[in-house]
Amino acid sequence: MAQKQKRVAVVGAGIFGLSLAIGLQKSGHSVTVFERYQYDKNKYEPDEDDKVQAASVDVNKIFRASYGKKLHYQRLAMESREAWLRINQGLGDALFVECGMLRVQPSDELAALEKETLANMQRDGFRDTQFVKSDARDRERAARLGWEGKLLDFEIPGGAHHETFDAVLDSLGGLTRCSAACYHFYKLAASAGVKFVFGPEEGAFASFIEKTSTVDGSRPKVVGLKTKDGRAHEADVVAIAGKSKTIFSCSLFFSGSFSTQLLSKLSYHLESAAGSLVTFKIDPENKALWDKYSPEKFPVITWKSAPRAKDGKDTGSIYVFPRTSDGIIKIGYRGFTNFEKAPDGVPFTQDGQWSIPLPYDDCKAVPPQAEEAIRTFVSIFLPEFDKADFDTTKLCWYTDSLDNSFVIDYVPDYAENSVFVCTGGSGHGAKFMPVLGDHAADVFNNADNATSHMRTHWRWREDVPRRNGLEDGPGGPRNIGGRSR
Ligand SMILES: Cc1cc2nc3c(=O)[nH]c(=O)nc-3n(C[C@H](O)[C@H](O)[C@H](O)COP(=O)(O)OP(=O)(O)OC[C@H]3O[C@@H](n4cnc5c(N)ncnc54)[C@H](O)[C@@H]3O)c2cc1C
Repeated sequence: MAQKQKRVAVVGAGIFGLSLAIGLQKSGHSVTVFERYQYDKNKYEPDEDDKVQAASVDVNKIFRASYGKKLHYQRLAMESREAWLRINQGLGDALFVECGMLRVQPSDELAALEKETLANMQRDGFRDTQFVKSDARDRERAARLGWEGKLLDFEIPGGAHHETFDAVLDSLGGLTRCSAACYHFYKLAASAGVKFVFGPEEGAFASFIEKTSTVDGSRPKVVGLKTKDGRAHEADVVAIAGKSKTIFSCSLFFSGSFSTQLLSKLSYHLESAAGSLVTFKIDPENKALWDKYSPEKFPVITWKSAPRAKDGKDTGSIYVFPRTSDGIIKIGYRGFTNFEKAPDGVPFTQDGQWSIPLPYDDCKAVPPQAEEAIRTFVSIFLPEFDKADFDTTKLCWYTDSLDNSFVIDYVPDYAENSVFVCTGGSGHGAKFMPVLGDHAADVFNNADNATSHMRTHWRWREDVPRRNGLEDGPGGPRNIGGRSR
């Protein structure tokens, strides 16, 4: 139980907001989530409202425990995997689909990152869950355990001797049915007592309500927020253990790729970047394709070999999911930035600009560079779709952090720990939905005394250099801002 019950306002009902709302409510706080979209009505279904711009609203996301040198994320992923499997029990349609993940290498050899992943899998006793295509013993084990059919061969284009890409099949990997999982967690949160305010006016954050702190005159204290309908949501009074106490109000942010626009103090830590998503649709009558691309036969495939910059630098990666029960095959291509002039007062800019999401009307098509890279990928990995039209195309916005780790901490610019952020999903947050909130609630409740092993990785960190592509700025090869797409 928390020592002091706080009335907590959470902004954003995506994966981070939902997960933490549940974690906080469980630890004794009283949580209200404000969300501008009507997830209570559209049930997080991507097709229900095409104006929704939220990374969490999507048919599927990759689950992987493979994290190179980042053993802490590998361990968090394994903790989450256990939790997904528990959630699956009793559900008709699994939210975590154990279809495996094939990490196809850029060449016929294993890349350095892959060797690091295998070493860390070995270290934690999971090496036997990984099958290296070029390793005879792994192939034999895959055959014994029924995974051999997913150790697929793909020929390297232009090779003189029909060489194939090396690959590692990760039997721990798979996918989460992301939108369905969000709706599941929304219902869990509501039944745990979390209150929700949905709507473009009443659910949309407009501004903080700030007061002078009585204990720290140098920084403002946030005592609540205003929504777009003009309503103020302030602190209240509740009875705890029979005594009446003033509630410590606290605002939190989980507003995904819009985080910097709501709280510009995040501009050093975060950058919005667009992922390009395209889909094909398989007709169930086409039995051969329906079967070939089913999750029973086809793993998630990732391929990190998509030269995009003029100098041939690999700045992106491509992935494909097995078909859904509706016959949708989704392919994703990693990140473009959209630099625009930053408003006055933004604490960190590059040449006076920052990268933020485009309006949804400009997110319906993918940039030509993405289409080209995806077409190359399709010709190798999904040859039946080589000349097929895309069923849908769209841009979906990442919230990239300076080192690819999340940002989960109190914001030091506000007095009395009155603003907490939980954001920076960096393209890998969805898989952690069942456990993220418990770790984040530990940080919320205990700050530097938190016992979560993720505490140091998620801290507020203006002392850490901007890397992970954030150092590129408007002059970087990924910027599509201000250019004709
Ligand atoms: C293209 C793409 C592919 C990805 N693939 C994977 C993957 O394969 N595996 C994986 O684990 N992770 C993946 N991720 C990452 C994962 O999706 C994110 O980490 C996660 O969804 C982030 O959740 P969030 O709640 O922070 O943000 P969001 O899902 O963006 O939610 C933020 C919410 O805040 C709301 N909001 C914004 N402004 C306001 C306001 N003013 N008032 C009220 N509400 C507001 C929004 O409406 C939204 O609902 C991917 C991300 C992207 C973009």
